[in-house]
Amino acid sequence: MAKRDYYEILGVPKGATQEEIKKAYRKLALKYHPDRNPDNKEAEEKFKEAAEAYEVLSNQQKRSQYDQFGHTPMGGMGGQAGFNMNMDDIFDHFGDIFGDIFGGQGRRRRTTGPEPKRGHDLYKEITISLKDAFTGTKKDISYYHFVSCKACNAKGAKKGTKAQQCNKCQGMGQVQMRQGFFMYSQTCGACAGQGFIISSPCPECKGQSRKQVYDKFSVTVPKGIFDGAELRIPGKGDAGIFGGPSGSLFLRIKIQPDKKFKRIDDNLVTSVMLTYPQLVFGCQIEVESIDGTKHSVKVPKGCPIGKELIIAGKGFEKLRNNTRGNFVIITKCHIPKKIDPEAKKLLQEYSKIVGTDIENTEGGITGFFKRFLG
Ligand SMILES: [Zn+2]
Ligand SMILES: [Zn+2]
Repeated sequence: MAKRDYYEILGVPKGATQEEIKKAYRKLALKYHPDRNPDNKEAEEKFKEAAEAYEVLSNQQKRSQYDQFGHTPMGGMGGQAGFNMNMDDIFDHFGDIFGDIFGGQGRRRRTTGPEPKRGHDLYKEITISLKDAFTGTKKDISYYHFVSCKACNAKGAKKGTKAQQCNKCQGMGQVQMRQGFFMYSQTCGACAGQGFIISSPCPECKGQSRKQVYDKFSVTVPKGIFDGAELRIPGKGDAGIFGGPSGSLFLRIKIQPDKKFKRIDDNLVTSVMLTYPQLVFGCQIEVESIDGTKHSVKVPKGCPIGKELIIAGKGFEKLRNNTRGNFVIITKCHIPKKIDPEAKKLLQEYSKIVGTDIENTEGGITGFFKRFLG
């Protein structure tokens, strides 16, 4: 199923402010809130869809990335299946939106045992060269993250045992207390508010249902990736607790500047040194691109300095539509510091013909400046 545009979902214009986005989401969230639409699958879908749109558009960085790339999965790793926010996540994330309406906690219900919860997203920065960004590359990633405990199958309890509902709070995680006339509730001390107790914890994970490990894998960085882009790798964040889904790993791309080449929009830009006669007469030259490929380009007759010679379609890959920017070569003039006597004679002759004064240049200050400096 094709994904709907996030702005369209929330019914706000592209340039909407954060306040407008929040307001629009709040309205939708209230309309489709599961408490108001019990057992209504369609409302639930709408509720989730709006939460996803809000999740992206309320985050400056995610929003600008979405504006640039839309729903396009980056690097073939993202994709639509990867967005696995469940209802609990939504209440966790946007508690501030519901808090004042639905009484603080969003929803609280009786637990019969450990409840699966989604793991955290993780963030990591990787640095690549401009050439890598041009050609695409593979990067080895190593990092710490939580993985589900295999010994207890993410249950947290020792093999053959089970978590028990907490007797003290009947699984509510909270106990009612009375003080004089007042009733108030307090986090249950017996289960630390969890609503359940693991009396024989799995020795492998100490009852945590997951373990932190040092992990390594290789990731493909797509051609045309730009500085500051984020690659999302679903499932590589922290594993969820008690078998909940894993979070994503976000890789933020940092591109090192290159000495010879620059990126401007999707264009690859460099400069080429030409001699004065080459600029005057025009010529055919060979220019090497950042990936080592050679391109032949024509310098026109009477070419000015700073002219952009353009080789169409040989720039950076555009992530959005599989086309490419241009390879842009800016002309410069090579001015020699040392000059061969023969060339010097000819150049002096040339100068005379075009009527420029080059007398008295050997000893530093010329006549013109002498008059000023006295
Ligand atoms: Zn375990
Ligand atoms: Zn309890």
